[in-house]
Amino acid sequence: MTRPAPGTYAPADGSSLTPVDPTDNDELAAIIHAAEEAQVRWAQRGLGERVTALERVVQRILANAGEILDILVRETGKSRTDAKMNEGISSLGPYFNTAVQEARVALAPVKVKLSPLDYPGKKITTEAIPRGVVGIIAPWNYALANFFKPIFPALLAGNAVVIKPSEYTPRAGAWLAAQFEAELPMGLVGIAQGGGDIGAALLELVDAVTFTGSVATGRIVAMRAAERLIPCSVELGGKDAAIVLADCNLDRTVAGVAQWGLHNCGQNCSAIERVYVEEAIADTFVRRLGAVADALEVAPQGDHADVGPLQSHAQLSVVEDHVADALERGATLVAGGKRTGEGLGYRPTVLDHCTRDMRVMTDETFGPVIAIQRVAEAEEAVGLANASPYGLNGSVWTSNIERGTTLARRLAVGVAYVNNHSFCGALANVPWTGVKDTGTGIAASRFSYHTFTRPRTLFVDSNSNPDPWWFPMNEDLARMGDLLIERGKGSWTAALKIAPILKKRIEAIQKLARGD
Ligand code: NAD
Repeated sequence: MTRPAPGTYAPADGSSLTPVDPTDNDELAAIIHAAEEAQVRWAQRGLGERVTALERVVQRILANAGEILDILVRETGKSRTDAKMNEGISSLGPYFNTAVQEARVALAPVKVKLSPLDYPGKKITTEAIPRGVVGIIAPWNYALANFFKPIFPALLAGNAVVIKPSEYTPRAGAWLAAQFEAELPMGLVGIAQGGGDIGAALLELVDAVTFTGSVATGRIVAMRAAERLIPCSVELGGKDAAIVLADCNLDRTVAGVAQWGLHNCGQNCSAIERVYVEEAIADTFVRRLGAVADALEVAPQGDHADVGPLQSHAQLSVVEDHVADALERGATLVAGGKRTGEGLGYRPTVLDHCTRDMRVMTDETFGPVIAIQRVAEAEEAVGLANASPYGLNGSVWTSNIERGTTLARRLAVGVAYVNNHSFCGALANVPWTGVKDTGTGIAASRFSYHTFTRPRTLFVDSNSNPDPWWFPMNEDLARMGDLLIERGKGSWTAALKIAPILKKRIEAIQKLARGD
């Protein structure tokens, strides 16, 4: 059966959505040209002015939040409450304020310390200069929120941006771009619609790129960016593990693992997809987690359904393949494991007795499936957790905070937790980053500014004398070099002997310069 094209159907009930026209190459060239022109003037404004303009955008987004909630419910299938809480809308005000605080740190000029004795009259400042036009290529799983991490720092730094939403969720991106366009100079925020071909075309025209998406596409983007010698941040897939120890607070752990495993229908780069639980509590933990999964409501069930449907037919197929593979290889179905029968709905699923070779334990599932492997003790769990090509988030659940912290530090991930998971993805002042195939990118926080700015060094010399190591080479310079080496070894008598040579050196250089 042929599947409908991406982004043309509502995941909750399968009804048709009006297609969104892709951007053609001529339109894209015009968008980039307008962005380049707007960026020059935007960069000339001070940070304070940029903050004021972006505050207006934030207020506009909040004032019109009802519109984007309608779009998100229709386009992604998640419930209205889910979209409000988890697409960055309810937290946008404080998120932006924190992003501004980070920008003030990242963009502040740095005065470089120089010894006035060794380098008289010299002053150096490093300044953060915008890259130009930044391309922001996004996936569909948080059709709105995925843009917030890069778009604020990019604009605060003085760049223009062109966003490229996923072809699966073009309307949320279009709405967001319209809010920025309404409050900012014309052309400063552009949007390119379409699939991989338009993403690839955008990559050819921008001065920097942030990419969030799959490992396979991230590699292609990173390679092309390397060829073009443009900065590139790639935030890619995950296969997060949670380690559940026998001494954990069971109520909090069951609720937390269910939340971060099934939230957003598991379509979360930092979803808990693997759980390693100590055998001593495995029976109880599995039973209680299964009961939570069974109790969750799957959309469409009103405004507050806990879990939406899968976003696409393609994603539903991956989930079904992974679950079938696990069951064939001996996993036990504790909850779910079947479609709801409405749209792309799939029951929250818990699988017990999984083993390390099953696809639910090795490949990114990106669906409402929690795979559990029982372990004898924590050491075994750490080894299994780290035996993955991915490394985004990881967590240890225990009442012993000290031991949990030690174990969390040993996880091969970018963000490690004790008794929580995924949480940091909602913060503007914490680096969101991974290791291994999850990519080299750093999103959010002052640490993300490498993609959005380059340091420019400004050196001002007000010394009227020439520098003593300039031409001509002579005996005095050789002697000076020897004394500097001795000084480097710690000799202060050598340091004292340098001063009289400096005077002779400067005279010699001046003599050469005058042609005497
Ligand atoms: P994807 O790689 O298929 O697509 C991502 C974006 O790239 C889309 O906009 C797509 O149109 C575009 N694209 C496709 N081919 C391209 C090319 N050759 N050049 C430029 N752009 C191209 O990923 P997806 O299925 O949309 O997203 C799901 C993936 O995203 C999952 O692996 C998930 O873990 C990951 N993700 C990671 C993070 C993170 O912070 N690490 C956050 C969210 C999602």
